[in-house]
Amino acid sequence: MTSHLMNTYGRLPFALSHGRGCRVWDTDGRAYLDGLGGIAVNTLGHAHPKLVPALQDQVAKLIHCSNYYAAPMQEALAAKLCELSGLDAVFFCSTGLEANEGALKIARKFGHDRGIDKPEIIVYEHAFHGRSIATLSATGNPKVQAGFGPLVEGFVRLALNDLDQVRAVARSNPNVVAIFLETIQGEGGINPTRIDILQGLRQICDEQDWLLMLDEVQCGIGRTGKWFAHQWAGIKPDVMPLAKGLGSGVPIGAIVAGPRAKDVLQPGNHGTTFGGNPLAMRAGIETLRIMEEDGLMANAAAMGERLRAGITEGLGQLPGFKEMRGQGLMIGIELDRPCGALLLKAAQAGLLLSITADTVIRLLPPLIIDAAEVDELLAILVPLVRDFLGASHP
Ligand SMILES: *Cc1c(COP(=O)(O)O)cnc(C)c1O
Repeated sequence: MTSHLMNTYGRLPFALSHGRGCRVWDTDGRAYLDGLGGIAVNTLGHAHPKLVPALQDQVAKLIHCSNYYAAPMQEALAAKLCELSGLDAVFFCSTGLEANEGALKIARKFGHDRGIDKPEIIVYEHAFHGRSIATLSATGNPKVQAGFGPLVEGFVRLALNDLDQVRAVARSNPNVVAIFLETIQGEGGINPTRIDILQGLRQICDEQDWLLMLDEVQCGIGRTGKWFAHQWAGIKPDVMPLAKGLGSGVPIGAIVAGPRAKDVLQPGNHGTTFGGNPLAMRAGIETLRIMEEDGLMANAAAMGERLRAGITEGLGQLPGFKEMRGQGLMIGIELDRPCGALLLKAAQAGLLLSITADTVIRLLPPLIIDAAEVDELLAILVPLVRDFLGASHP
């Protein structure tokens, strides 16, 4: 059968039809354990018994109404995000790239407001910020950029976890206005920014009057065991783009801003049709409420611990195992060879996961995963990786 879809994805040869908790079924009735969570989106797993009735209620009341009107549900979710982050104001959109695009606009206008005509933003190698022209330009992956030049200018790219490089830029480049990075790089292979580096970046931004903009689209919303991954470093960003896990599957994005960034955008500067619609807001409000009610951050920390212990025990001594990285339920297992073939093998063994940066097995399960499911995940994953390393070459 000819497909009428643009050929943008390498897709596995089965379709998912429904799910419950951490399990999903395909159209042939085969069950899978969900170690991917729709790429860090399905915070509450599938068909969560508290989320489903809330969304059904909302669909029956009001899905969308435009930003022409007062927005009490946006106010409610914004207040909650500010309470959890210690920041002050929120703009709602629908995706991660959109949140990042807005952050980049804030940084540029922040510069213009200070009389800098050609503002520049520090970004990082191996970063991923999305696939619009501006966000792919900020992304540090030539494969994402190939074919889409000319890229947007005004980015200075550095190596992650190196403050000296940032200080050198501060000395030599008066046009810099912001540092933009993922607190933990996701698509780049689960590469955490070190805690001391985050603290150093905060200090440099304070000294230089730059904005610290932390892309928490993948690592935020409880996944690491705190609401936001940067909270492990005891710092606050000036701008924090969010998306993925915030709506448990309903498309939603948000830019959360602190005192120095919250008033940069003024009437007429920014907007979006779908952003902040009542369905997305309800999904966000209920997701955060259920996470609190059910203690899902503590669960993410504990289950992440259990998963990492099992991986270390089962795989840590194998010659092809290089390193495990990440925090909570954001885990990368780097092998010494490309392992894309594991995607289908894992699915055939009943486990959904992803492979990123060619050599990294990435696990991003729903935050509701329990101990029995973690053990089941390990019981599938460990022999699979052992066999793969035994039967292939670096
Ligand atoms: C997924 C992701 C994005 C892009 O989000 P989309 O919703 O796909 O546009 C941006 N930044 C990070 C860190 C991501 O993981």
